[in-house]
Amino acid sequence: MADAFLVVNAGSSSIKFSLYIAHAESLGLAVRGQVEGLFTSPHFAAKNDAGAVVSEKAWGEGAKLGHAGALDHIAGFIRGELAEHRVVGVGHRVVHGGLEYTRPVRVNADVVAALEKFIPLAPLHQPHNLTPIRLLLERQPGLAQVACFDTSFHRTNPEIAQRFALPAELHDAGVRRYGFHGLSYEYIASVLPQHDAQAARGKTIVLHLGNGASMCAIEACASIASTMGFTAVDGLPMGTRTGALDPGVILYLMDQRGMDARAIEKLIYNQSGLLGVSGISSDMRTLLASADPRAKTAIDLYCYRIRRELGSLAAALGGLDAIVFTAGIGENSAEIRARVCRDAAWLGVELDSAANARGGPRISAAASRVSAWAIPTNEELMIARHTRNLLGAA
Ligand code: ADP
Repeated sequence: MADAFLVVNAGSSSIKFSLYIAHAESLGLAVRGQVEGLFTSPHFAAKNDAGAVVSEKAWGEGAKLGHAGALDHIAGFIRGELAEHRVVGVGHRVVHGGLEYTRPVRVNADVVAALEKFIPLAPLHQPHNLTPIRLLLERQPGLAQVACFDTSFHRTNPEIAQRFALPAELHDAGVRRYGFHGLSYEYIASVLPQHDAQAARGKTIVLHLGNGASMCAIEACASIASTMGFTAVDGLPMGTRTGALDPGVILYLMDQRGMDARAIEKLIYNQSGLLGVSGISSDMRTLLASADPRAKTAIDLYCYRIRRELGSLAAALGGLDAIVFTAGIGENSAEIRARVCRDAAWLGVELDSAANARGGPRISAAASRVSAWAIPTNEELMIARHTRNLLGAA
């Protein structure tokens, strides 16, 4: 009976999962899926590794399945799938590991209690990430669980890169730059040597451009700076998040518009970014296909902010050997990649347009001083690898 590892990524309204089978040297994806609309119109779908739907269920409008109900359904589905395999560990994506968790950790009740302390640092994600861990600890206490953090990869940032120019007391109390999307960057750093061994030993900027978007400066496979800070709203404009915003704007909105914390939270997390600027959509595909000048402004601003951050991160690195595009927009949009690469010509990036149109992986010309790549990320596989490694070593 072969070992299998379940990867769980729980959010406020969905639980995503993937199941990996352990082979001698690798992990093979068996099935992946999600339950969406946990509290509105729950829908389950699972696909095999070829992308074909193998199971689907809808609970109907208004049904409130919740995290517990969704987890039960996923567990039942997986039991049915696993005649020849045995789930030996569950790996969870957890957004915040604070300063303490610089690597994945096997969870027990004490670790959950420690991770609950980070809820105020990531109130929109952390509580939902912890819910399935708590449920499984209650229901299957013998099942090994591992928490993998979006912040851990950035703990190699120098002290100075983690610091705000706030009074020291606030820094000491944890008000500092943590950085996010770490599992994605760690995955890219793990495969970069196969593509460009020299860059992997040197200086690389990775652009994770999905609904959430950030950039990370990596030197010799370790993060040294990133665009996200105390929360995942900093840095680049995203689908619906502002990215970096003069803190004076927040004060102005409070004083002049009477907005409270919740109203500002909604504004900067859900109503801004590509959606807010365009007034049309948070989806890059829709904006690229639109003739509306507001869509153009949103895309222009998106690319302009990337251009600025590229300069900033290249300065933090003190040079540049490679740039890597990843996540939904980075992996799929030749147009955005081309714009970013053209803007980065001064840094030594020379695009190969035909290779870019084909989707890479290498999208820079042979003579380009800085190589450019489009490489799919795989945060789930990173979590599965960590889970296997940690439990194997236990
Ligand atoms: P998440 O952060 O939710 O995981 P993804 O990494 O899936 O998001 O990225 C979603 C974004 O990728 C959306 O803005 C979507 O429009 C964009 N995207 C996906 N495919 C394409 C494409 N072919 N061209 C442009 N944008 C794309």
